[in-house]
Amino acid sequence: MKKYKSDAKTVLNRLGKLSGFLTDLDANANKNDGFEFPLEIIRQTMMFDVSVLYKVSNVIENRLILEIVKILDPDGLRPDLEEGRKLRLFLDDPDMIHINEVKAFLNKRVSHINVAGVGCDIIGYVHFPESCGGAYLVGGDFCGNESSVKDYEVACVEIMCNLLSAILLKIQFKYQAEYDNLTGLFNSAKIKQKVEIILKRFERKSASIACIAMGDIDFFKKINDTYGHIQGDLVLKKVGDLLSNSMRGVFDVAGRYGGEEFLLIFDEADEKKTFQIIERLRKIISDTKFEKMDRTGKILNNEYLNITMSFGISQLSKDSGIKIVTDWISRADIALYESKQNGRNKTSVYRDI
Ligand code: GH3
Ligand code: MG
Ligand code: MG
Repeated sequence: MKKYKSDAKTVLNRLGKLSGFLTDLDANANKNDGFEFPLEIIRQTMMFDVSVLYKVSNVIENRLILEIVKILDPDGLRPDLEEGRKLRLFLDDPDMIHINEVKAFLNKRVSHINVAGVGCDIIGYVHFPESCGGAYLVGGDFCGNESSVKDYEVACVEIMCNLLSAILLKIQFKYQAEYDNLTGLFNSAKIKQKVEIILKRFERKSASIACIAMGDIDFFKKINDTYGHIQGDLVLKKVGDLLSNSMRGVFDVAGRYGGEEFLLIFDEADEKKTFQIIERLRKIISDTKFEKMDRTGKILNNEYLNITMSFGISQLSKDSGIKIVTDWISRADIALYESKQNGRNKTSVYRDI
């Protein structure tokens, strides 16, 4: 069985590598990447035999409920642990075997314990506000190869947990500042910023071409009025999914511009190409069956709604005369208005009169 002997120099050296990893994570954080908690890196840095990640799932009266999210136990030293299992711990029971977890949670910092003849373990606390997913506990076990947790180990776990807390919080705030929380698309400020970036680039390199499309759900107010706002929100969410799933990827982006209005950007695409893409999208939306719910928000079996969307396209090119973002967006709006005037469920392209 492989046993590690931790020493301050190695741990500090590895801590530097972990900081590098976290800095990269911070710089490259993207909502589509998801977030992989760096438990293995923490385990290796601290030379833990076993590492465990707990999510604080709830606190009910005097009980702390933890869910085991991930276990790293390459040598099979802790067969008693199981991913997905919930632990219900009493916050006020001093004799309990999980005193270390409780202490870390209550004090919001590293807690450690030495168990004679068995080894020692150490639990760190990674904190988020409740609105950002709550807290995690990160546990490390030296299963018998160390007789007690050393001061530098406590300090290192504290540093790692603080670093992780700060970075995860930053990623979360960045996400909230850029994405619409109902649809998961870019929010209005971010999508306008993306449009601005293309326009700026265009000033330097006017040989390029780009289009934007404004889309608006037809008679959306009627959905809210007939079925309630929860149903309306469900429709908005699904439209957001359909739009983002149907777009090309790197060059196309979608954002929620306003209530039931969506702004799409097609970089390097002319109006002909954009028209084809939007027509395909428009048909996907009108062919989609949207789940129906009653006024309490309960999904009804085998009952569906159909909706349609109208679109307006505006092209940015050398001779389009577009100078500022609002010019470009208002042209897409004018074309959208034309689609509405012509009976809705249509796509129009802006034309100079
Ligand atoms: P048109 O075909 O002309 O676009 O008609 P419409 O009913 O879609 O347009 P209107 O502008 O009259 O109504 C838009 C509605 O969208 C009104 C507003 O209450 C609703 N809305 C805006 N944001 C949200 C939201 O986040 N959730 C829900 N459920 N409704 C929203
Ligand atoms: Mg509207
Ligand atoms: Mg509408």
